[in-house]
Amino acid sequence: MSYKLVEIFESLQGEGRNTGRPCVFVRFAGCNLACPWCDTDVRERFSMTLEELLAEIASYKAKTVVLTGGEPTLIEGAPELIAALKAAGYFIAVETNATVDAPWLQFVDYVACSPKAEFPDKIELKKANEVRVVASDDRAVEFCQRVKEIIEADDYYVSPCDHDGEIDFATAKSVLSKLDGWSLSVQLHKILGFR
Ligand code: SF4
Repeated sequence: MSYKLVEIFESLQGEGRNTGRPCVFVRFAGCNLACPWCDTDVRERFSMTLEELLAEIASYKAKTVVLTGGEPTLIEGAPELIAALKAAGYFIAVETNATVDAPWLQFVDYVACSPKAEFPDKIELKKANEVRVVASDDRAVEFCQRVKEIIEADDYYVSPCDHDGEIDFATAKSVLSKLDGWSLSVQLHKILGFR
């Protein structure tokens, strides 16, 4: 079995509750959505066996691994990877679009999801540590309310939309003022210019 990958790099978590935490980001290839504004290249660049992937992760200092994509809940061999990372003592986080309620998610330490307003009927996830919704316009209010009814989470965040580098805090603030129990998650990596 091999894992289809886009990139592996070490950086700080840029958003949500774990903002600022040093992490190894493992970006898997492939996604089951096609968001019109998607700026993530999810094409496979290389593949690794489990042993190769573990060795690459171990070459970085961070002891938190973020499995991201694309859509990481679609990867084959996820249970084996999770078990190996656990055995090696890593804190494991997953970033998902909430369309797949993979059974192995219960074994990771942190699930962050970002359901997409363009695909409201595809949400399958029922539980997460945090939910992040991008506020493109005021219609995000209704979507956030719907998401909160579907996904039980510790934290609910609204993220400002990025229009070609212009971060729209005004819309995020307007959306937040109409919601209860949601707070702002700034995308620090975009503001400070790190990956
Ligand atoms: S879910 Fe994420 S990676 Fe997939 S198309 Fe949408 S923005 Fe891109």
